[in-house]
Parts: sequence; structure tokens; C-alpha cells
Amino acid sequence: MTGNEVTHVGRPGEIQSDRVVETNNIIAPGFISMHTHMHESPVDKGIAEDIDKRQFWSTNLIEILPPRSEALTRNDREVCTRVSIAEHLRTGTTTVMQMGPDSDYTAKECDRVGLRAYIGESYRSGSWYTSNGKTVDYSWLDDDGQEDFERAVDFASRHVNTDRSRLVTGFLNPSQVDTCSEDLLRQTELVSAKLGVLIQIHAAQSYSEFYEMTRRHGKTPIEWLNSIGLLNDRMIIGHGLFVTGSSWTNFPGDDVGLISAAGTSVAYNPWVFARNGIAMETFDAYRSRGTRVLLGTDTTTQSMLHSMRWASIITKVLEKRSDAGLAADVFNAATVEAANTLRRDDLGRIEAGAKADLTFWRTDSHFMTPTRDPIRSIVYYAEAEDIEATMVDGKIVMRDGEVKGLDTAQDLRDLQKTAEEMWSGWQNHDWAGRTIDQHIQPVYGDYNM
Ligand SMILES: [Zn+2]
Repeated sequence: MTGNEVTHVGRPGEIQSDRVVETNNIIAPGFISMHTHMHESPVDKGIAEDIDKRQFWSTNLIEILPPRSEALTRNDREVCTRVSIAEHLRTGTTTVMQMGPDSDYTAKECDRVGLRAYIGESYRSGSWYTSNGKTVDYSWLDDDGQEDFERAVDFASRHVNTDRSRLVTGFLNPSQVDTCSEDLLRQTELVSAKLGVLIQIHAAQSYSEFYEMTRRHGKTPIEWLNSIGLLNDRMIIGHGLFVTGSSWTNFPGDDVGLISAAGTSVAYNPWVFARNGIAMETFDAYRSRGTRVLLGTDTTTQSMLHSMRWASIITKVLEKRSDAGLAADVFNAATVEAANTLRRDDLGRIEAGAKADLTFWRTDSHFMTPTRDPIRSIVYYAEAEDIEATMVDGKIVMRDGEVKGLDTAQDLRDLQKTAEEMWSGWQNHDWAGRTIDQHIQPVYGDYNM
């Protein structure tokens, strides 16, 4: 290594080094999570599991997201962001693709602590809501989201990072396919082409969204994006699960073929959907059509170890084969293939000229022993505690669970307080005025004796 780059990969003694470190570690590329919401994900625990959401086809989006987001103050979101940065580094992620508000704060913290980040300030023309628990309705902003769009373009313009010298790179995040107008998306595409920055949009993420788009346009979400010129190799579809031919939609067409032909990537977040009984049908099937499927964490836990493992195991179960959802395929999706979509031949791999974004795995730890094939050990068995250190841009930023530059113990205390305030005020944001306990019963009743 020289500075922040790998200069040579080979056997001991092949090149002269100023410093030699003896280690039994397995050194692997850091993971790239292609879909994160660091400003709010940590408070998902305990409010979104085990609930019947039949009316909305199992999605959390309609009843849980609006009250959760409304309850969080700017300070709460900053606590979540710091906890999330630590969580990613502790679980071996060295690059995230973050979508949400407060991008300047997130950029400052990622830069200060040392997490490589693609950051997109979210914007949209309107939002969904329900006023009766039965239907999904939309309210639209008077300016079609123009003010927020301009703020997002300003952030992306200030973080183009063409020479790759900075940790933070901007991109554009029109939030969701069903909450953005055609005009807003066409403007997004123009700016993306001009600046050469990527776009990520949530699409094909719920049955209600799929149905709404066919109702509005007579087209699936993917067909509609394609028809207005948004599908290309600068575009990443967040989720992309509710597509033609899937058992959820039971709707003819070739959405996966359109995605693949356009060179568009899909960011798959297996855990958050599997938690609700939903899965990509299937990771292997999309890939066999030539679609680049990458992985993200989306919600809590923000661990790419979990993401790779769930992607693999769900695929094996759906395909009814052990040789499906291969360790190699999910590992590549979490590293080198993600880097390719980010147009970064210096990330997601260990080779001369690549950035030193590395994870150092113990080989004598409980979950890594015995290690015959390190990639299979990491994908199927490893835990966060098996990572001795995480390096980003040539600097050790996490060692033995401790992230330099963050007071994680204090941040976790603040996170508990933030969550308690959100729970106690849930009825102020819930469409039916339900308390958190009415919304989701604790497993064994009231724990506060
Ligand atoms: Zn998301």
C-alpha cells in the first residue's frame, strides 16, 4: 500500500516495502451497501415486525413510514446517522449509498469519521398517506417538489468528485416512482446526464405502488420509467421486486428484460422484505437475464453480512436448490459489481491502483473457525465480531468494534431516548390515532413494571 491505494498484490518478497505487517488476517474488500437511509433506519426495531398489513399487501410503507419520519427531529436524525455510520463500519461496509434529508450533515460526518459515501438528497412531488387504513392516497406539493429538487441538485453539483479524491460523491434521489411527476423525473435525467451523476429511485417496491402506476398510466412502474427515458446505466432501481411475471403481480410483460436491456442496476434489500414475507423472484433469475443485482441494507440491521446471507438463502429456498444464490454471486454483488455500477474500478476489489477500502477478518475467532473457504465463511457464518479492523481510504477507522471519532456508547443512549420519544408520541402521527401498543403489541405485554 502507498497512501490510500493498494500498489501491489502478490507473494512476500516480491516487492520492497518500507514496512511489513505479519498477520493471520484474511483481508477482503469492504462491502458496498447500495441502499441505505442512515438518518432513520436504527429506529425501525420493534415497530415493523409481526404485523398483519393485509390491506396494503404486507408493505410497511403506508402506515409505518409516515409516522416514523414525522416523529424524528433533526437532532434525532443526526443521532441515527452517527449510529448508522458505526454500524456499517463494524459490519465491514466501507461504502454506502445514502438517501434522505440533511445531506450536508451526513457528508460532514462520513468525511470526518471516514466512511465512503454516495449521498443523494431526497425529493419528490408529493407523498402517500392513508386516512382510513383501506386506501392509499397522495398529496401533491404546490411546486411539484421543485424547491427540494434544486437543493438536491445543488448538493450533487458540489460533490461530483470526478477525480475520486474525496470520500463523498453526490447522486440524485427522486424518492419513489409513484410520488414523482414525469416532469420532475425528466429534469432529474437531464441533470444526471449533464453532471454525470447516478440516480436511484424506489420502484416496484410494493403491490399498491405497482397497482397505482398501472391505474395511472396503463404501464407498470418499470414500463413507465422506460417510456419516459429514465432507464439507463446511470439509473439504479431501489428494490425492483414487484415486476411483471412475479407471483405478487400476476401481470404479463417483461420488466426484468427492460431493466436488463437498459443496463440499469437493481439494489436488492432482502432482509426488510423477507421480514414481511416478500422476496425477489429470484436473485438468480434476474441475473440470468443479464440484470446487475446489487445488495443493500435499507433498514435495520445495517449489516451487509445479513444482506448477503439472506439474499443467498432466500434464493436457495425459492429455487429449491443448494447451488443457487451462490456465495460468490452475493459476495460479488456486495463488492465488485456494486463498484462497477458506481463506475469505480478502484473500489470493491483488491488490486494495484484500487483504493485501500479493506476488511481484516480474524481466522481464529469462533464463527470463522475452521476457515477453509474464506468467502463462504464470511457469507454463511461470520458475525461483526469476526472483523478485527475496517480500513477506508488507507486509514483504519474501526478496530475491535470501536469506531474512531465517534462516541458510540453516548450515541446509543441518545438513540434509546429518541426511540422512546417516538413510541410515546406515536398516536400523534398515526392515521387512526393509535398508540404504539395498539399499533403493535409487545410480545409478552407491558415490560415496564
Ligand atoms: Zn429505501
